Amino acid sequence: RRHHSSPGAAPLPRQDAADKAYRRSGSSGRIDAAYGRLAAALGDDAVLGPGSDLSAYEDPYAFGGSEDFRCSGAVLPRSVEEVQAVLAIANQHGIPIWTVSTGRNLGYGGAAPRVSGAIVLDMQRMNRILEVDEEHAYALVEPGVRFVDLYEHLREHRLKLWMSAPSLGWGSVLGNALERGIGYTPYGDHAAQICGMEVVLANGDVVRTGMGALPGANTWQMYKGGYGPSLDGLFLQSNLGIVTKLGLWLMPQPDGMMSCTVHFQRESDLEAAIDVLASLRRREIIQSNAQLGNVLRDVAHRYPRSRWYDGPGAMPDEVLDEVRRDLGIGWWWILRFGLYGDKELRDARFRIVQREFSRIPGAEITGHEHLASGSDGLHAWEVEGPAGRLAGVPGFFSLNALKFRGDDCGHLDFSPIVASSGREAARVYNHVKARAREHGIDYLAGFTAGVRHLNHVFTILYEKHDAKQTSSAAALLDTLIREMGRQGIGGYRAHLAFMDLIGDQFSFNEHALRRLNETLKDALDPNGILSPGKQGIWPAASRKQRAGT
Ligand code: ADP
Repeated sequence: RRHHSSPGAAPLPRQDAADKAYRRSGSSGRIDAAYGRLAAALGDDAVLGPGSDLSAYEDPYAFGGSEDFRCSGAVLPRSVEEVQAVLAIANQHGIPIWTVSTGRNLGYGGAAPRVSGAIVLDMQRMNRILEVDEEHAYALVEPGVRFVDLYEHLREHRLKLWMSAPSLGWGSVLGNALERGIGYTPYGDHAAQICGMEVVLANGDVVRTGMGALPGANTWQMYKGGYGPSLDGLFLQSNLGIVTKLGLWLMPQPDGMMSCTVHFQRESDLEAAIDVLASLRRREIIQSNAQLGNVLRDVAHRYPRSRWYDGPGAMPDEVLDEVRRDLGIGWWWILRFGLYGDKELRDARFRIVQREFSRIPGAEITGHEHLASGSDGLHAWEVEGPAGRLAGVPGFFSLNALKFRGDDCGHLDFSPIVASSGREAARVYNHVKARAREHGIDYLAGFTAGVRHLNHVFTILYEKHDAKQTSSAAALLDTLIREMGRQGIGGYRAHLAFMDLIGDQFSFNEHALRRLNETLKDALDPNGILSPGKQGIWPAASRKQRAGT
């Protein structure tokens, strides 16, 4: 079932050394003893030891090299006290743990750990929505709360609040915010909505950040700063602590929403389209992460590729022309976003959007109004269909893209951060398109426009049973990360197999950032038990082992 082909020219040297070191040190006696103690402390039903069915903790899209990312088992705590008990045992036995909230980090490794032998700390049972404050528009949640859960809560209580969800609604609200996930409402920069955390450190100490440190304060979810240094950022994409509670700002529901699309006729419109979009985003005329996708990306969400092409390699341009003729599609790019607020504000925004995009010849701009049924504003659940994502309604639409390559489709994401300018977008587009073609992979291009950056989202699809496609996909990703990195274009998130590679690229002043991260790691987690290797940050012992190999 698995393919052990190597990902092209990717030697990934640090990964191999660190994994070997863990395998050497992980004698099975020690691991069994640790699982025995975990079961005694938390109960048998909270522990999946070696020999259990651990398929939920494997990378569902495993590709060459992924066979290394195998946990020894998992533990599912129900409370902060049980998290502390797990940490005490992991420290005593020197066994690494890998924290996931719901483990739906698909395309980046799922719930699988960076180092083999680690115990997955699965937080899904800590799933309480602790508070939703309608007046002040925030929520306080535990790690196991999924987007669909928070949405149902808002709906059930008819709260006048909108959340923001990423393109798949089954994951953890907290886990996604910690990984800097994105959604499509004005609150779509999920990390930016974080206000206050509770964190269990490796030594078991429980810290509340910001105003949460002040006993009696009712402003934990209202003021991000607190007193002294802001520490919340230390726990984003990090292995310095286990976040057990997260405060998140929610959006007061608007009076209405307009869902907008702009179609651009020519491939070469990319540059002008992004320039206009970038300016509208900077001035916050467009208030949310707007998504520009190419025609193949759009088609892939609706039809199987085999309807037009089943040959080897990337779909040729002539076939894409045929697809467009077949479906009566005249455009090349589609942009989607919402406009929010009172009617006067929406209308004014739409007029500016129309005026500015209509400077691009052939651009077709449409706006569809979604209006409230009552007088208290537009509830998210009143926005139906594909526009729901613009109102933060969790959905599963993007799973459709996986059907593009049949039932056995895997995906890897190349998602670098690009400056928000047409010239930069076109440069990256042309480069990635050419490389994808060389590797025989279809190019589904998407640009998500933040306020001052673009997230270039390229979903690399491949058929998992096909060893050649699988290794081409991994080789393509490896090549793109290396080439783009040399040009200062870095990944915003990484699959387990590429965490070191991207970490190595952030090398200013002889890796000063990594050295600082390592200093923090060693101080806060001297036994190196928390998610070793996450984002390329390793504890002291494995750094020494690595240097010695
Ligand atoms: P999702 O299911 O929303 O994709 P995951 O549970 O897979 O989220 O978490 C994504 C990543 O975020 C994990 O791989 C882990 O590195 C980090 N993470 C998740 N939960 C926590 C937590 N409670 N504390 C610290 N880091 C976490």
